[in-house]
Amino acid sequence: MPKVIIHDAVDPAARALLGARENMEIVTIERDERERLRHELADADSIILRYLPLDADDLRAAPNLKVVARHGVGYDNIDMVAAGACGIPVATIGDANSVTVAELALYLMLAAAKQGLVYDAALRSGDWWQIRESVHSIELYEKTVLVVGFGRIGSRVAPRCKAFGMEVMVCDPYIPQTAISEAGYTPAPDLAAVLSQADIVTLHTPLNDETRHMIDAPALASMKKGALLVNTSRGSVVDGDALSAAIVSAHILAAGLDVFEEEPPEPGSALLSHKKMVFTPHVGGLTRECFYRSAIVCAQNSLDAIDGKLDPAYVINPDVL
Ligand code: NAD
Repeated sequence: MPKVIIHDAVDPAARALLGARENMEIVTIERDERERLRHELADADSIILRYLPLDADDLRAAPNLKVVARHGVGYDNIDMVAAGACGIPVATIGDANSVTVAELALYLMLAAAKQGLVYDAALRSGDWWQIRESVHSIELYEKTVLVVGFGRIGSRVAPRCKAFGMEVMVCDPYIPQTAISEAGYTPAPDLAAVLSQADIVTLHTPLNDETRHMIDAPALASMKKGALLVNTSRGSVVDGDALSAAIVSAHILAAGLDVFEEEPPEPGSALLSHKKMVFTPHVGGLTRECFYRSAIVCAQNSLDAIDGKLDPAYVINPDVL
């Protein structure tokens, strides 16, 4: 009987879709059941995985595993070298969360530009008059935004920025630059050369050796004074200490972050103390709609892998198929 592990909370739609198949064993594992997970992996055909790291020992302990069905598009919590060595495909949810994250990037951009949390706190504390004596917010209209990474999410952020009347530059050296210009945006393949031209920088690259701390102290210093930074990609794309310093010096006006170098971030950390920053706890893909879609794709990827017809379009390491 095929066996699917569902690790951590997933929309009930996944269980319903899997359970509609006769003779299917579905095992639910809670976030802290690390030992039990290793035990259950021994005869599992699929695992639907949210955040838990899956290391080489886990993968080697899973000789029947036909897919790791990631409940998201990032896969930095999986040892991909070991997955390749074990011949295990790692499937993501493709573009099921792209619009969801793009909307969150726009929320963070607007919240940072409008200083929504500062105004909210002032109003709640009875500070109606004083807060209105100084001007805290800026407009997006006619600002220049630099979208870094023009994949599933970045390509959905760009038109939403354009709809606000912004000039859109796109930095993605790994795609044909005509794809950017034909979509109506300005190609800007050299990040260092264009950081100084943007009023807002929004990050949508994967985390890898090239992008780790891509926005570091020199990059922040080269940004316009008063610029905004938005990060919904991966925390380590930005050097958090450098960002913290740039906010203190007011070189960067405000920032919106959904992702952090350490998750969850230390509650008393310097980064979290800045009132001009807007935070969300890595919820880029966590809308009700997206939670449902993600569960369905993960369950379908599990069924397809069991049936030997996993769609390569979802697979990060298709060479193992
Ligand atoms: P994608 O693979 O579709 O697109 C990434 C793009 O970045 C590609 O077009 C690639 O060419 C480009 N790129 C790579 N290196 C670059 C570089 N050095 N400079 C500029 N561009 C570069 O990925 P996606 O689905 O759009 O996801 C983007 C990021 O968002 C990933 O880091 C992903 O993990 C993250 N993400 C976060 C959440 C969340 O909850 N906050 C949810 C989904 C995805």
